[in-house]
Amino acid sequence: MNPTKCKICQDTIYKSSGKFCSSHKLAKTKLQNGYELWLKAYDTLPYDDFLQQLLDLGDLVGALVKDIVEFELYFQETK
Ligand SMILES: [Zn+2]
Repeated sequence: MNPTKCKICQDTIYKSSGKFCSSHKLAKTKLQNGYELWLKAYDTLPYDDFLQQLLDLGDLVGALVKDIVEFELYFQETK
């Protein structure tokens, strides 16, 4: 089996369990946890709106998380 690469930073993923490297996978987990928190506060919040709001926060969002946000917003293949 060929090693896969992280869709974002092109780091090789040796134990393939997704499309992201370990750093970006962690960022993705943080993002999902964050979304769940926001959902509790807002009742309804479309995922895309949540991502957009994170981008608006600019530097307050960690670089790795921002990578994921941009990836999900612009390169998401499936919803
Ligand atoms: Zn990566």
